[in-house]
Amino acid sequence: MKFGIDYGHNCPPDTGASGIRSEDVMTKDVGTRLMQKLKAAGHQVVNCVPSSASSVVGSLSQRCNTANSSNVDLYVSIHFNAFNGSANGTEVFAISDSGRKYAQPVLNSIVKLGYFNRGVKNGSNLYVLRNTDMPSILIECAFCDSEKDMDLYDPEKMANAILEGLTGKTPPPPPPGKDPNIVKLQQALNRLKITDKNGKALAETGIKDASTESATQKFQKITNLSSDGVAGPITLTTINQIFTKPILRPNHAGGPAVRYLQFRVGVDTDGVYGDSTAAAVAKFQKANGLTADGIIGPQTWTKLIG
Ligand SMILES: [Zn+2]
Repeated sequence: MKFGIDYGHNCPPDTGASGIRSEDVMTKDVGTRLMQKLKAAGHQVVNCVPSSASSVVGSLSQRCNTANSSNVDLYVSIHFNAFNGSANGTEVFAISDSGRKYAQPVLNSIVKLGYFNRGVKNGSNLYVLRNTDMPSILIECAFCDSEKDMDLYDPEKMANAILEGLTGKTPPPPPPGKDPNIVKLQQALNRLKITDKNGKALAETGIKDASTESATQKFQKITNLSSDGVAGPITLTTINQIFTKPILRPNHAGGPAVRYLQFRVGVDTDGVYGDSTAAAVAKFQKANGLTADGIIGPQTWTKLIG
């Protein structure tokens, strides 16, 4: 589909309203994002904003001429309202049934963001709707002088809402970013020598992937937690308990740290520090040049987890 996108004003003497934010800045921001998103979705886009004009009517007529001569399928004009500081919400204008077919879903999509629904309105007094040959809509996204609207305002969300209303498609979510908490988890699991389901150490990418999930699940199974693969508060607390290097003695200690120890020395992870665990620990201590006393103190912990 071929869209004519006209972000309002931005062409002196055709300038927008100013409130808590400037209409010019917002229409350009939302309009530019929308154009880029429409192109990314495979549509053709014609930018209808003129570079200069000698009057407001001159600015408006150039916008209509560009849309008409480019034979766009739909003309979309983007504006922000201003009134008395307390009026707020979204309204979309159209003058034809074919325009209203787009106006309604665009309005629905924007009000989902939390703006008050002022309805689809008759735009027969609006120059750009009267003078474009194709279905056309004018979006008053929100009020630039309303605190409520400007608190809600986010140009990326607004552009996505308009895109969804125009095309019926939700934009794909952005690629996951590096999450410092996930980096910490991956570092912790590597330090604990907990590998993924293929026996591989984790890449410390900060991105939650299948490897991180399977390693988390492995740790949860070892320490007898519910193994959902999600590192929630209980899992993180258990990891931190092990990092405190608690002293473990035969027939005394129990719990997750013993289970973890058992995993490392290769015996059943039953959480009971009995004879077979003691024997495996003594073997581990001997192999690492430590006194084979079966007590897991600071030196043995250092050999286990650094
Ligand atoms: Zn305006």
